[in-house]
Amino acid sequence: MLEMMSAYQLRQWGKAPQIVEVPVPEPGPGEVVVRVAGCGLCHSDLGLMEMPREVGESLGLQMPFTLGHETAGWVAALGSGVTGFREGDPVALVSPASCGHCWQCARGEDISCPSGRVGRGYGRDGGLAEFVRVTSTRGLVGLGSLDPSSAGPLTDAGATAFHAVRRALPRITPGGVVVVIGAGGLGSFAVQYLRLLTSARVVVIDTSEARREFARELGAHDTLMVAGDVTAAQIRVMSDDGRGADVVLDFVGVDETISAGVAATREGGAFGLVGAAGGRLERSWFGGLPQDGEVFSFQGSTIADAHSVIELAQSGVIRNEVEKFPFGEVAEAYRRLDKGVLRGRAVVVFDNH
Ligand SMILES: [Zn+2]
Ligand SMILES: [Zn+2]
Repeated sequence: MLEMMSAYQLRQWGKAPQIVEVPVPEPGPGEVVVRVAGCGLCHSDLGLMEMPREVGESLGLQMPFTLGHETAGWVAALGSGVTGFREGDPVALVSPASCGHCWQCARGEDISCPSGRVGRGYGRDGGLAEFVRVTSTRGLVGLGSLDPSSAGPLTDAGATAFHAVRRALPRITPGGVVVVIGAGGLGSFAVQYLRLLTSARVVVIDTSEARREFARELGAHDTLMVAGDVTAAQIRVMSDDGRGADVVLDFVGVDETISAGVAATREGGAFGLVGAAGGRLERSWFGGLPQDGEVFSFQGSTIADAHSVIELAQSGVIRNEVEKFPFGEVAEAYRRLDKGVLRGRAVVVFDNH
């Protein structure tokens, strides 16, 4: 008889997820099973819960699957042929299931691997369960002394924000201004990387006073309340000669933040759209975009980004603020995420250690 475990699964398109009993996964050759310590909750999970079937299927997602793509825990079982890991090792999981050998992966651009559109927690079983199966050790990052019950968000919120900052670094000048729109799960990491890696003046825009205060605690020089024409003008005033921001990273992504963000970007600067709120960029070639600048967008991060962020956390130079919820309160934790009342990342922890 198979051993059973609890998992938080999406079972039907458009229906709320539920806690179900499923068999504990067994590792096949080359695979690893991880006992989950904690799994972070991401805004994109809320998108999955409401996703119409046509959209989900066009992305290659098949029901049912266990939610959760910010997972960390301990190696519990090793399949045949696995090297480099031992039972009990604390690890974080990189969720996109990139293949490791396609053209993109060979170039280190596994963020764009065609196989990576489906991953653990979106189309495959993720970390909101007592155990999770990892099909390749490429997806495991050793945690060393970091606590696996809170490390999961480093692989997604942390690594995605790192990818954004890394993309933007060549456009950031000494003494320039960098704007972070939205200081939630991702933006709060971006503020810290910018302070660590650049000498720019970091300006945070957020509608929540609590998040603005948190951003200042993390090193933001200035905070502003809303994104709009007025804000874009204020940002230009903050920069030398009123030339605008070297870089604007938009972690919200509604029409208003996109339009204000592009308007605040200097000639030769960069606007990065990371937030998945579905806003549109409606700008003409003629005078509507930063002259000789860059507008970029992406989803997720590379395996290298996850390794870098975990190195930074191990060095103790970044803060990973989490709010822990027991597995039984997973639905409530998602409600709080949806309402925007969390200060750090919500992490669901398992009563297993
Ligand atoms: Zn995510
Ligand atoms: Zn690939």
